[in-house]
Amino acid sequence: MDSQDNSGSGEGCIFCAIAAGEAPSIRVYEDEHTVAFMDINPATRGHVLVIPRLHARDLLDVSGDELLHVMSTVQRVAFAVEEALHPDGINLIQANRRAAFQSVYHFHVHVIPRWWDDGLRPPWSHRAGDPDELRELGQRVKTALDEGLARSQH
Ligand code: AMP
Ligand code: ZN
Repeated sequence: MDSQDNSGSGEGCIFCAIAAGEAPSIRVYEDEHTVAFMDINPATRGHVLVIPRLHARDLLDVSGDELLHVMSTVQRVAFAVEEALHPDGINLIQANRRAAFQSVYHFHVHVIPRWWDDGLRPPWSHRAGDPDELRELGQRVKTALDEGLARSQH
């Protein structure tokens, strides 16, 4: 079952409970801003989750500062996974909202060690996009970015 979407409060949030030490986890790293622990349903051997201590629902809810702290810990964990497990590769996965298969609504990044024979498959295939559509979608995103920049300067 999905955890409640409880942006802001963190009440009833399993990852807040893990960060506070109130729920069990196999913790591999913690600092003032972040905690890293083993995923209980690992995609591969050595699958680690990195979370901010402060509750945020997803990428669109987490503050820029917290995001930087999380990504710094993500790289630290990736170095450790590389050193300890010698994987053939590493994926970062980060899910936002149910349509993108988010199931716990406390922002987190998956650090997933990869092996040639681990059975995971890429979520999309490389098919050429329609050039007109690519240009049109690119323009829409660029406009939103330009407007965001303009707003942030006021
Ligand atoms: P996502 O589907 O991207 O929201 O990922 C949530 C992840 O959290 C899943 O891979 C779950 O296996 C993992 N998870 C859920 N509850 C716990 C828990 N109590 N301890 C460790 N991992 C958990
Ligand atoms: Zn939380």
